[in-house]
Amino acid sequence: MKQSELFTKTRKEAPADETSKNAELLIRAGYIHKEMAGVYDLLPLGVKVVENIKEIVRQEMNAIGGQELMMSSLQSKDIWTTTQRWDDDVVDVWFKSELKAGGEIGFGWSHEEPITEMMKNHLSSYKDLPVYVYQFQNKFRNELRAKSGMMRGREFVMKDMYSFSLDAEQHEAFYQKTIDAYHRCYRRLGIGNDTFVTFATGGAFTEFSHEFQTICEAGEDEIYINREKGIALNQEVYNEKTLKDLDVAENELEKVRTAEVGNIFNFGTRKCEEMDLYVNDEAGNRIPVHLGSYGIGVTRIMGVIAEKFSDDKGIVWPEEIAPFTVHLVTFGKNENIFREAENLYHDLKNAGIEVLFDDRDIGPGQKLNDADLMGMPYRIVVSEKAAEKGGVEITKRSTGDIEFVDPARVIAHLTEG
Ligand code: ATP
Ligand code: MG
Repeated sequence: MKQSELFTKTRKEAPADETSKNAELLIRAGYIHKEMAGVYDLLPLGVKVVENIKEIVRQEMNAIGGQELMMSSLQSKDIWTTTQRWDDDVVDVWFKSELKAGGEIGFGWSHEEPITEMMKNHLSSYKDLPVYVYQFQNKFRNELRAKSGMMRGREFVMKDMYSFSLDAEQHEAFYQKTIDAYHRCYRRLGIGNDTFVTFATGGAFTEFSHEFQTICEAGEDEIYINREKGIALNQEVYNEKTLKDLDVAENELEKVRTAEVGNIFNFGTRKCEEMDLYVNDEAGNRIPVHLGSYGIGVTRIMGVIAEKFSDDKGIVWPEEIAPFTVHLVTFGKNENIFREAENLYHDLKNAGIEVLFDDRDIGPGQKLNDADLMGMPYRIVVSEKAAEKGGVEITKRSTGDIEFVDPARVIAHLTEG
């Protein structure tokens, strides 16, 4: 894409009321627009990042047998009343509204109930199980505080998956598979080394859950970790007995601030009993289905990555989710140089490399600042000065390493790492 055609502009200052680092950077670099506290629009660059995150998650969910669907955001009061979760004292994040024709509706904050209800039309025999479905969807939550930018939205993108299993064994096997798939997601997203799984008894309505916590200064949680022993504990289970069971001493654990990037829940058979989702087993007995629920905070991850991978100049995207791999920059009045940059732009595109070409008629300082702020993994400068030094200048955003490369060797240089 040519930057002259990108309608978004970078800016020096974020809105005065924006206090979170991730939103500040993402707004300044033109990835998002703030509608109001906790509500952000995704601009073209932001859409690309979110789509890249989704694609990684989608591949991993498909790989363990997930089928993608898309449930509605408007939800029926009746369905949630069945399980007592329509009650604002039970679920304190509901956005609700009223129909002109009469009756209340809710804006989806989660989908266990509607998905279980829907499944009653499709599951009747043990032969129909297991079933794994997932979606990417905007969730609505009336969060009391929304001061963490993309990390705590009142409207945000979540991947939620639901498993319907015949028995505890089948459920448990898939639950474990999901833990592995989540680790693969976080590794591919570039946060694998800093993401830990912790056990929790969950909210008032679940049997138990596991949280995926990523070390992040701006996070709202705290956990205790020991990297060597592969131990991570949250406050809830941090006590003398647990430490003894795990054979770890207090002084071997490091307290770190984290953000929850995923959460998986075991509902047992309770939800399906409440909602009357039963199947016939081999002997013809009606048995309740086992439900599991598995969330990943897609837009929260975008925020966490902007927080973690950034410096005083701007964002430093991991390669797998960067909107473009290369930010191609050229400056000066020399027409040959501009033509060379244009040729390189087409060559890179033809080689399947995502490239943003800064072809704007503005000064070099502003172009270089923008490239740093926007955070593509590689910046390639085509200029007279670079030509004198032996080609084009390739700077790796994450390390600042600079190399001068013959234009004919650029693609090989990038693809060979
Ligand atoms: P939290 O404890 O942070 O409020 P939660 O436990 O209520 O989150 P879940 O219902 O487990 O959230 O949702 C699944 C995932 O969705 C979370 O692990 C998190 O990554 C993400 N998520 C939850 N709430 C928000 C939000 N308000 N904004 C952005 N992402 C969120
Ligand atoms: Mg959670």
